[in-house]
Amino acid sequence: MHKALCPGSFDPPTLGHLDVIERTAQLFDEVVVAVVANPEKASAFDLEQRTQMLEALTTHLPHVKVGSFSGLLVDYALEQGASCIVKGLRAVSDFDYEIQQAQMNQQLADVDTMFMAARPAYSFLSSSLIKQVASLGGSVTGQVPALVEEALRARFSGRSSHGC
Ligand code: ADP
Repeated sequence: MHKALCPGSFDPPTLGHLDVIERTAQLFDEVVVAVVANPEKASAFDLEQRTQMLEALTTHLPHVKVGSFSGLLVDYALEQGASCIVKGLRAVSDFDYEIQQAQMNQQLADVDTMFMAARPAYSFLSSSLIKQVASLGGSVTGQVPALVEEALRARFSGRSSHGC
């Protein structure tokens, strides 16, 4: 049985994240979407909100589960029995950071990382850009799922002149 971990902050999930999760689910028997719980990092949506959004977005994928972790990703991978971490790569800038993480995780616990090329239509999307646009009153239709669009509207309602 091959189990993969798709980790991230998902603050909030975008269609780019979902595309990587769905494509990973076609390749592995089980997938755990691993939401980072980092209380020191300010997030627009708390861990419970991010987890609930991802659960709602993956109900059509019965072999995809959503979990959360703090501490080392490799410890969570071992705890879950996942043999592989899958990460989406948008551009060279992602690669520079991700290759270091992947090699460290290999060194730490012999856990491998596979990179999945972002779908070109989503390769410019990041959660931080989405938050910035939404907080300034711009439309993010077609870039995040409808339920995330709704959550962003609720989160930033009454704010149209601030960044994030
Ligand atoms: P972000 O970089 O948007 O804040 P995360 O930290 O939640 O996102 O990223 C989790 C994983 O998803 C990372 O491997 C990241 O490279 C990948 N990812 C983020 N956005 C996209 C996208 N638009 N297409 C493909 N992969 C993505």
